[in-house]
Amino acid sequence: MEAGFLPRDRFQTLLDALRQSGYRCIGPQARAGAIVYDTLTRAEDFPRGMRDRQSPGVYRLEHTDSPRFFSWANGPQALKPFVFAPREPLWRSERAADAAIRFSEINPAPEPLAVIGVRACDLAALRLQDRHFLEGPFADPGYAARRKNLFLVVVHCTHPADTCFCASTGDGPRATQGFDLALHESDEGYLVQAGSDKGRALAAQWALVPAIAAQQQEADREVEDAARRQIRRLPSRNLRDDLFANLAHPRWEEVAERCLACGNCTAVCPTCFCHSEADEAALDGRHSLHLRQWDSCFTQGHSYIHGITIRADTRTRYRQWLTHKLGGWHDQYGRSGCVGCGRCIAWCPVGIDITEEAAAVCGGGAHG
Ligand code: SF4
Ligand code: SF4
Repeated sequence: MEAGFLPRDRFQTLLDALRQSGYRCIGPQARAGAIVYDTLTRAEDFPRGMRDRQSPGVYRLEHTDSPRFFSWANGPQALKPFVFAPREPLWRSERAADAAIRFSEINPAPEPLAVIGVRACDLAALRLQDRHFLEGPFADPGYAARRKNLFLVVVHCTHPADTCFCASTGDGPRATQGFDLALHESDEGYLVQAGSDKGRALAAQWALVPAIAAQQQEADREVEDAARRQIRRLPSRNLRDDLFANLAHPRWEEVAERCLACGNCTAVCPTCFCHSEADEAALDGRHSLHLRQWDSCFTQGHSYIHGITIRADTRTRYRQWLTHKLGGWHDQYGRSGCVGCGRCIAWCPVGIDITEEAAAVCGGGAHG
């Protein structure tokens, strides 16, 4: 479909059309000093004029006079919580009157969600999560139900943070597939392009005027410029062999002296999928819920197996994270597990930078 143009003062029609189609709209908002995703019904609630400053261990928002809603790079949230719930019950057990224990599965019935403002890196991360949760021998029913109900409105990124490196992983800043609608924002409004039948049906309601060549050229120039402005990069898209050849590298010890093993990097990472399971018993002893919750390879319990904590120190936990993310994923999913969103750099309380650590172990530069 050719791109059409939606003037800024008609942006509310996008929200209204999504709501009339049965979606709860989720959009970016400036809250407590960060861009977060939450329910949104009015165009005025978008973070108009907000800009972010990100560097290792630092995230700051500042206000500008720009009329744009999307002139920032990603905040801490990705699409992950909307499909892979941070905590959810998987099954319930009940003790019946005859003392028998009965198990019943819990099937989530999620409401349709439209997420507005998705970036290319997060779309790539969603594709990776699809591989993990849907395309293995057993599809995850909770993930599948939530994923089916998602409508994705992408905004091509024109304001990368200093922590972003999606151009080096090949995942941004332009989204090329996997969206329902793609927007390019200018000061005057939005170039709108449909990427699915659902997106086409929605866009058809707005009687958009076709975009003119100059608008499209300016949009292309802004996205290309966003790729050029990225200052970080990974040494290569495939570090598998270099990482596994360097398991005894002294850098693992050095990074462990700085790392707090807090797990922030895994919580904000859009592709991390590790979880633990727990049972929550009712006080009357008759019911219990079996829960799945996000976990991290930085916790002690995550590598506890049959009385042994396999990765007992921070050195082996950090090494596990990096070698799995940038190495082992090639064996499991055919590519690296990093989409270059930079969140683990900005939200690490001590500013550990995955691009620097990878370069230190494997050689090559972390800065372009
Ligand atoms: S490893 Fe870091 S930069 Fe890569 S996808 Fe995860 S959070 Fe983003
Ligand atoms: S690398 Fe940073 S965010 Fe990750 S566990 Fe260590 S201190 Fe926490």
